[in-house]
Amino acid sequence: MIEDKTERCLRLAREEHHCPHCGQRLSCCNAPPFHVGDGLGWGTDVIFICLNDECKLYTSSWEKFEERYGHAASCRYILLPGEEKGEAMMVGGQNAFKGSEIDVEALGKTNVRHAREKEAEAKLATCVAEKDLEPALYLLTDEHAELALRKRACELLAELSDPACIDPLRNHTFRHSDLEQQVNMAIIEVLRRNHLKECQACAEIIKNQAKVCKHCGREV
Ligand SMILES: [Zn+2]
Ligand SMILES: [Zn+2]
Repeated sequence: MIEDKTERCLRLAREEHHCPHCGQRLSCCNAPPFHVGDGLGWGTDVIFICLNDECKLYTSSWEKFEERYGHAASCRYILLPGEEKGEAMMVGGQNAFKGSEIDVEALGKTNVRHAREKEAEAKLATCVAEKDLEPALYLLTDEHAELALRKRACELLAELSDPACIDPLRNHTFRHSDLEQQVNMAIIEVLRRNHLKECQACAEIIKNQAKVCKHCGREV
């Protein structure tokens, strides 16, 4: 599956990373065109950065720069996507990087898939009462949707108890094995509540009491 730039930004903006110096959640920002340190590119369009003005790294570095280099600069903690450990990066002023935070709302509106995800999320609260399988099924079969949201959708499957969910879910390839496992458990529950089972031979759904599969004719 090819991930476009918007999807990548949305995914990264949802990741939670914290500053080891102050504990504050790092802001997800568009990377500036040039790396201050080496004049080369960043190799990424998005970086995580601690923008806390009370951060120890930031407040204590002003003096160090003044002493050592005789000019006003400080450091902020930055982390590149996919990295475990970040580094201190020189900033020239308090407002460096501020305003370059990725605006998930604005970005999301430009992205049709993301808009559908939000729409489905909004419908989750009432879908059981309305017996509407669609939003839960949409989220479960959208690999770009937020994992926590998809797990919530999966929790509703048993209550929705609609056997129409089984084929699309069986035909979907899940990238997260724990979600796949949760879906399999939910399918078993949906079958049980509807007094149905899956034929061992042809995988079609048949009545629990059936002795012979009406689809493949085998004894079950
Ligand atoms: Zn910090
Ligand atoms: Zn069969």
